[in-house]
Amino acid sequence: TITPAKRMQGLPEQFFAALVAKANARAATGRDVINLGQGNPDLPTPQSIVNRLKNAADNPQYHKYPPFRGFPFLKQAVAERYKTDYGVDLNPDTEVAVLFGGKSGLIEISQVLLNPGNVCLVPDPGYPDYWSGVALTGAEMAFMPLKEENEFLPDYSQIPAGAIDRAKLMFLNYPNNPTSAIATPEFYEETVAFARKHGIVVASDFAYGAIGFDGKRPISFLETPGAKEVGVEFYTLSKSYNMAGWRVGFAIGNPQIIELINLIQDHMYCSLFGGIQEASTEALTGSQQSVRDLVATYESRRNALYGALDEIGWKATKPAGSFFCWLPVAKGHTSMSFADLLLEQADVVVAPGSGFGVSGEGYVRLGLLTSEDRLREVAARVGRLGLF
Ligand code: PLP
Repeated sequence: TITPAKRMQGLPEQFFAALVAKANARAATGRDVINLGQGNPDLPTPQSIVNRLKNAADNPQYHKYPPFRGFPFLKQAVAERYKTDYGVDLNPDTEVAVLFGGKSGLIEISQVLLNPGNVCLVPDPGYPDYWSGVALTGAEMAFMPLKEENEFLPDYSQIPAGAIDRAKLMFLNYPNNPTSAIATPEFYEETVAFARKHGIVVASDFAYGAIGFDGKRPISFLETPGAKEVGVEFYTLSKSYNMAGWRVGFAIGNPQIIELINLIQDHMYCSLFGGIQEASTEALTGSQQSVRDLVATYESRRNALYGALDEIGWKATKPAGSFFCWLPVAKGHTSMSFADLLLEQADVVVAPGSGFGVSGEGYVRLGLLTSEDRLREVAARVGRLGLF
């Protein structure tokens, strides 16, 4: 038998991998399963981006190893996007790192900053990959509860002093997965002050940065004065351009951290396929109409679903951004028993809130990741169970 390294002992099964397996097993029995569990966009990548990749695939320049830290034209495109969308000035050489999806960077930042004995502050509920990255380093986690009455923002005054003293890294994620909350400029100002005072690096996960509803524009952490001194932002093409399968992400901000992330990646990868890098510049510098269309699509889906949920008596606050709905479970259920019930009796896959942390208990997460008709069908199936 093979003995895994000690560091693997703290690593749980990947939450969504387990959820997808459960959903697939159900669908394999021939049932008409509606899967709103994983955050996997259902719409295709805009055609102009796909076409650019098709042409680029013929370019022999891209058949060789790409430059270690990515093609400069791609990092330039990111800098231009940030300038236009957020008014943030970036040096593309020193303040932008190319990643394999945001996900790789979320693991790498723990690798380059945390030692055993350090503490990492993580949001609860929160995206489970933050924990995995921390677990692999042997550092500890201190959870920051996100409460509805506090608009799902952490309350720094409630973090125990003992945790703050040993804290070296903190994850934040707005627009938030799973609660859909959006951060305010005041909260980010408070965050910069808190991080400076305690010497904590801020990792802002901006995966849903493009998706805000009712005309609300989500802000980037890097818009905050002083943000670049204390942190980096993780930015990805997965959600804003329906490019989840392409695996294109970026770390942006503090040059010292960017250098560390680049350094660890120098040893692991030689950056993404050049054709993907070229097509990604089309996404970032081409017309942004597709992004506006995508936000409008999610917003009408949200309205369709919430209209139907209202009719069956399942009441909840509409999401402000991201494409997730954070809904209370039916009376007498845990988030897991409720999710299991929906799968077994309605063929609907949702993510149980407890998978996102202790504070996620009592909720389930639904992604707006199918047509309006299918979302109404979800409400109708749940309605037939007579739970609300
Ligand atoms: N961060 C959050 C909060 C996410 O929900 C996701 C994907 O679901 C990611 C990061 C990872 O995105 P990427 O596809 O860029 O790895």
